[in-house]
Amino acid sequence: MRICIFGGTFDPPHLGHLILAENVLEQLKVDKFIFIPSYNPPHKQAKDYTSFFHRCEMVSIATKNNDKFDFSKIEEKRKGKSYSIETINEIKSEYNLSSDQLYFMIGGDSLLNLHLWKNPENILKSSKVVVVARSDNSFEKVKSEFLKQVLILQTPQIDISSTEIRNRVKNNQSIKYLVSKEIEDYISDNKLYI
Ligand code: ATP
Repeated sequence: MRICIFGGTFDPPHLGHLILAENVLEQLKVDKFIFIPSYNPPHKQAKDYTSFFHRCEMVSIATKNNDKFDFSKIEEKRKGKSYSIETINEIKSEYNLSSDQLYFMIGGDSLLNLHLWKNPENILKSSKVVVVARSDNSFEKVKSEFLKQVLILQTPQIDISSTEIRNRVKNNQSIKYLVSKEIEDYISDNKLYI
């Protein structure tokens, strides 16, 4: 069994996340692709993001129509800051995976900050780190020993961000075609981002 995990704030999950996930699933031919909403993102303040409950509900809705997509609330159990190295180790033991069987997908902007994460060297040893670049990412400043150990995948450039969606809702603008209809309805029914 080979699994790819994808951590994020998912506030909200958008079509960019899903298009990338499907593309990476296809390229890596993994058996399962697990979205992991961050319980307590280490680089963000609690007031800056939506409750874990709403973010999980949205990820659950966003992933339910794909047999190979799954999502996990694994970070909720730990409370405290949600460090990826701990999530990686827990997923490996839950599914009994070796470091070669677990892919850890990050965006290009996360690769640029990897040196600031907890135990980046360990993350690189404990999983296969897969990077999906955003169009404005340039990796010149990334440590060469990090670059040697990651797999940079060519993926479609989808210029959608959760920040843009939150701003559009706040400004009463349409978010059609940036998120699925069900997520659009969830955001409106729960009065998120206004
Ligand atoms: P925000 O705008 O709130 O920072 P985001 O759109 O970047 O959110 P996250 O939930 O933080 O979404 O995304 C999780 C991971 O997915 C991050 O590593 C991010 O870089 C990556 N990512 C998100 N959207 C895209 C995209 N359109 N193209 C490439 N990578 C993306």
